[in-house]
Amino acid sequence: MLKVVNSRIRRDAVMLSRMVEIYCLDQHSDREKSAVGLKGVLETLEVESPNLCGQCSRLLTHGLVKRLSCPFDSMPGKTKPRCKHCSEPCYSGEYRNFVKQVMRYSGLRLIRAGRIDLIWKYFF
Ligand SMILES: [Zn+2]
Repeated sequence: MLKVVNSRIRRDAVMLSRMVEIYCLDQHSDREKSAVGLKGVLETLEVESPNLCGQCSRLLTHGLVKRLSCPFDSMPGKTKPRCKHCSEPCYSGEYRNFVKQVMRYSGLRLIRAGRIDLIWKYFF
């Protein structure tokens, strides 16, 4: 499944990981957390393993695996469309609403922290 990781994939992975971490830290402060182990995926992406609750771990795992297998990356001349316009959305079913919630919450936090550069692509 793993392919050569380009910088765009890596940037998206860092962003997702960071957003889920912020959300989990604030919203799930009462839950038990452990470092996310993704069987080498995080290492391949050179993303630091965040401490997350079970629910957030599953979301992050799902997101990263889907991002790594995105069909747009292997199409010459094609680039991945923004989430809203994508014909191959990474998130479906239970993950879709949850990831929206996470991005809305953490996105606002990052805007307030002046990190709008990190998030612009996720909201349009
Ligand atoms: Zn959580």
